[in-house]
Amino acid sequence: MIDEIRLSCSAILRLLSRQKRAFRSYRRPKLQDRRWLGSPHRPMRPTWLCRVCAAPWPCQPARLLLGLEYRGDRAGLAVYMAGMLFDATADLLALNPNPGPGPVEMFERFISWTGPATR
Ligand SMILES: [Zn+2]
Repeated sequence: MIDEIRLSCSAILRLLSRQKRAFRSYRRPKLQDRRWLGSPHRPMRPTWLCRVCAAPWPCQPARLLLGLEYRGDRAGLAVYMAGMLFDATADLLALNPNPGPGPVEMFERFISWTGPATR
């Protein structure tokens, strides 16, 4: 089970490393909207806990601010968060390789909330 999770994380890293160059243009906050740049709710690496509230990043305030920054651009937000997922997976796997971060847990934490709201 643990080996399967580690293999899955390695597969995610391999896949994302190929895409990382393409992600870079999406990872920069928009110049006209700098809310995120001013937010103290940023990840503390390599633990990926919020610098302010110590919750697993992205904490609720970070999600709110990112949602505002990328308002009308859900694809951009999802791609930005995929880049964060890549960095966080590498950091957390190096910090605690056994067991490493689970792919489902990482997806829920970094990507799932960027999708359309459920009713
Ligand atoms: Zn926070």
